[in-house]
Amino acid sequence: MSILRSLADRERVFDFLVPAQSPVDVRHGPILYLEDVSVSFDGFKAIDALDLTIDDGELRCIIGPNGAGKTTMMDIITGKTRPDSGSVWFGSRHDLLTLNEPEIASLGIGRKFQKPTVFEALTVFENLELAMAADKRVLPTLTARLTGEGRDRIEEVLATIGLVELRHGPAGILSHGQKQWLEIGMLLMQRPRLLLVDEPVAGMTEQEMERTAELLTGLAGKGKQSVVVVEHDMGFVRSIARTVTVLHQGSVLAEGSMDRVSNDPKVIEVYLGAEEEAA
Ligand code: ADP
Ligand code: MG
Repeated sequence: MSILRSLADRERVFDFLVPAQSPVDVRHGPILYLEDVSVSFDGFKAIDALDLTIDDGELRCIIGPNGAGKTTMMDIITGKTRPDSGSVWFGSRHDLLTLNEPEIASLGIGRKFQKPTVFEALTVFENLELAMAADKRVLPTLTARLTGEGRDRIEEVLATIGLVELRHGPAGILSHGQKQWLEIGMLLMQRPRLLLVDEPVAGMTEQEMERTAELLTGLAGKGKQSVVVVEHDMGFVRSIARTVTVLHQGSVLAEGSMDRVSNDPKVIEVYLGAEEEAA
């Protein structure tokens, strides 16, 4: 376990060892609720009176042109950026604007950045073990032996992400797509309630994209996770989307089914039109 320990120190996984928070309460409403949120950078409104509601178990896709505020929105939810005004709630119990990044993560909000950050020299299994080490409920200290429960959890996640056969291989030999799945698996080790995923299929093959669509749709559901996916690939969004939110200039331009938003003249003008011009 010593290699895990030194990596854990380096990567500051101890940041996540914050006092346990009470669980998210979704009995009377959505899992995530943003109301009238704004933030400016040097006078430029990156997020402008943004409202967003995500239901428990929902899979939501967020699209929008570059600079629309998609990443800034995720930064606000995860506590990386503080908005100038507005409210951000996780269930009905947790006002996220009163919490810092580690506290928000420990509540069960997992974020996957675009670039995979797996430990290439460690095996797939060890990567998942390391991710679990950040969760005191399963592994009380980093030097503790993996419990049977912990082992079962790793096996469960390996099956979910389709890497059972590769569990003892170094993560460095995985394809780009497989690394992305491993990183999603590392988030799952923390048993998140809400997953924020930024452009998961960039650089993936068609086959990997299909598998990712299955993975994300399988993760979403009541009593499982709610999933918010920011993605540029329209074919991918069409293949997984239930409700699509189109962001533009920091606020919601349109929301609804993929068919509805992709036929909305405002959306065609600011987003799809621009994409066709670029193609
Ligand atoms: P998207 O992810 O939709 O492409 P971003 O959220 O990254 O958009 O950016 C929205 C706007 O805010 C952009 O114009 C960007 O340049 C600006 N922005 C984002 N973060 C910062 C920051 N930390 N400082 C200054 N400007 C920023
Ligand atoms: Mg972005």
